[in-house]
Amino acid sequence: MKTPTDQKPRICIAEDDNISRMLLTNMLTKWGYDVLALSDGQAAFEALSEDEGPRLALLDWVMPGMDGITTCQRLRTEFPRRTYYLLLVTSKTDDEDIVSALRSGADDFVAKPYSPHVLQARLEVGLRTLALQKSLAEYANRMETLAADRAAQLVHADRMSSLGILSASVAHEINNPASFISVNVQTLRSSWPSVQRVLSGEGADLDRKRAAALAVEMPDLLSEMEEGVTRIRRITSELRAFSRTDTSEVSPVDVIACMNKALRMCSARTKGFVQVRYSPPESLPMVLADALKLEQVFVNLILNASDAMEDSPVRQLEITLARVADTLQVRLQDTGPGVPPEKTESIFQPLFTTKPIGKGTGLGLHISRNLVEECKGTLDLLQAPGMGACFEVVLPIPPDA
Ligand code: ADP
Repeated sequence: MKTPTDQKPRICIAEDDNISRMLLTNMLTKWGYDVLALSDGQAAFEALSEDEGPRLALLDWVMPGMDGITTCQRLRTEFPRRTYYLLLVTSKTDDEDIVSALRSGADDFVAKPYSPHVLQARLEVGLRTLALQKSLAEYANRMETLAADRAAQLVHADRMSSLGILSASVAHEINNPASFISVNVQTLRSSWPSVQRVLSGEGADLDRKRAAALAVEMPDLLSEMEEGVTRIRRITSELRAFSRTDTSEVSPVDVIACMNKALRMCSARTKGFVQVRYSPPESLPMVLADALKLEQVFVNLILNASDAMEDSPVRQLEITLARVADTLQVRLQDTGPGVPPEKTESIFQPLFTTKPIGKGTGLGLHISRNLVEECKGTLDLLQAPGMGACFEVVLPIPPDA
């Protein structure tokens, strides 16, 4: 069966001697190659530079204009990520010549006069090498995509883990407004028959008293319920936003608002357990970041500090936000035991945790550091002896902010 032309291996030959070029073309065509025959290095360079150009080439070393060596050098420097298999044809066979040919970027060489069998075998090596390089490049591409997908999944997993930790205390937060809404509904329900009787003119004294009392209480009952519903709505919408899986959305972000939100999310965990000292400045310049991811970083740091202070006699978390030169500095200083000096870098490694199974994933700090670095910032641990841990996030302020 005849092989279609586009499935034949393509080869570019550059040979200035007309007769040699014709003989080579005939021979390679007979071996099943799709041949592009050119008479100088410049034309070969142009053909090989094209996106869809051949990747296998047989170049004469000595040619007028651009020689074979220069063609190899230029292809390697101008297209460093492309895979070529470049075979030089030469009558120079000194060791020095061979070394300089290979160092210029040629993959192999054949000495003139060459045996057709040797040339054929060397070209087969070239085709095998190109095929291997191609599958390696495809594999590397797949790995890169997979790694990017996995990294995004880890960020989401870390967020879900924080949500898991928060869910018990968030349930409590929701329960509070829900129970006073329920009490108020009971009050309305029990007084309503009296109101109905008064409205239909059948009400007794007690009904009138109850209806009058309800009329006085009503505005308070309604505003309490309204406040409760607003609180529940805010908690659920913040949780929903926090569990989003979207990819990055970088925009000018108010770090104070981000920290306020993170503190609100963690309040159910910190309330009555950790004394949070936080007095942000009135305003700070915006930074370029993904607000949700920055919130995730702050939630991680706040939850870590709360965990670390579990057995501390004093549980205090001091959060400071300040502008320092062209950066915005966020510090979270706790009164826990701090991090042992030999672990100050391992805590940022993925899967490093000192927490029991089910409580720690060991992803929080690693992911947080990556998220901060995505915004061109840094996340580090600063700690002085006997002072607990202090985590510092530094974010660059864009020049026009
Ligand atoms: P996880 O919280 O799941 O353990 P992290 O990456 O957030 O994962 O934290 C890794 C480890 O760093 C923790 O297990 C803990 O040992 C240590 N660590 C983090 N924050 C603090 C802190 N504020 N004080 C002391 N140790 C901390």
